[in-house]
Amino acid sequence: MKVPVYFSEKFNADTIGRLFERALADTGGRIGKKDRVAVKLHFGEEGNTRFVSPENLRPIIASLAKHNSNHFLTDANALYRGMRHNATDHLKIVQKHGFDKLGLPVVIADGERGEEEREIAIAGKIFPKVRIARHIAEAGALVVVSHFKGHILFGFGGAIKNLGMGCGSRAGKLAMHAAVKPSINDSCTVCGKCSEVCPADAILLTEDKATIDPDLCEGCATCIAVCEFDAVEIPWMALASSAVMERTAEYALGALSGKPCVCVTFINNIAKDCDCMADSELIGSDVGIVASVDPVACEQAAFDLVRAQHGDVDIFKKATRIDGTHILGYAESIGLGRRGYELVRL
Ligand code: SF4
Ligand code: SF4
Repeated sequence: MKVPVYFSEKFNADTIGRLFERALADTGGRIGKKDRVAVKLHFGEEGNTRFVSPENLRPIIASLAKHNSNHFLTDANALYRGMRHNATDHLKIVQKHGFDKLGLPVVIADGERGEEEREIAIAGKIFPKVRIARHIAEAGALVVVSHFKGHILFGFGGAIKNLGMGCGSRAGKLAMHAAVKPSINDSCTVCGKCSEVCPADAILLTEDKATIDPDLCEGCATCIAVCEFDAVEIPWMALASSAVMERTAEYALGALSGKPCVCVTFINNIAKDCDCMADSELIGSDVGIVASVDPVACEQAAFDLVRAQHGDVDIFKKATRIDGTHILGYAESIGLGRRGYELVRL
């Protein structure tokens, strides 16, 4: 049987609530009373206005409240420098973008510096275990609210990227992005902070700058979090985008880890770049909202709907030159979900 993906072209509270309720019903009552439910979001980087707004979240929260779940809003820290680099700044952007007005606890899932994590064993092809932000790993269920948009490395990003890259701890994010270890550039002032916190004693301080021994480095990414001089280099382009997609799909498998889940993906404000960036050009017109218990089906449906609306053209590939559908096939191959779905229009 194909997985139902619920779809509507309307962006109003009543429709969002109905879409969510239909998908929630497909969990067979597995999200309900007293379950600690992590509502995984992206609170939007400084200068970004395309993220899923607090107003669009209200109907989902109201529905969860009706089912007496114990829910909280959450995201994990980003690897890059910005307002989502540590929990203190992250919570400032939460306030600035109005998520604090929703009256729910907001938890930055991997702690102040991205150091709080749980290792989760997975049946992946690349990773035997993944490093998931602690409060997400410890939640009983997930509600994954995503914005479908372009991405320089993924072609497009929605539920799978939100679950995988979005739920990794800082060390997890580093592992998804690169097979090589961080290094230190000439901005280093030899302040020594990274060396103090390095759990592997991998950082040597010389007169000119600190250096990292890649053989000792465990890839925990703490040095990236503590350096105030942007001296620790993240090897962003060390892997092909297809390899980053595969790693991210494996992290999504770990984040989910058998938990009941509902994905809701908003297909509007389709920008060329993701919500980690300030607003970039819009590359497509608004399509609607999809909801499903299956992140792969949800993502496939979102992609198909965008493509159908734009004259059978992959607008993401046109804008980024990346074929984002690679992640769909890989995610299905490791059992994250199914690409086949039945679109149910509400
Ligand atoms: S924290 Fe940054 S500036 Fe200080 S020693 Fe380490 S790399 Fe250099
Ligand atoms: S990534 Fe972690 S283990 Fe590697 S050098 Fe930085 S602090 Fe040390």
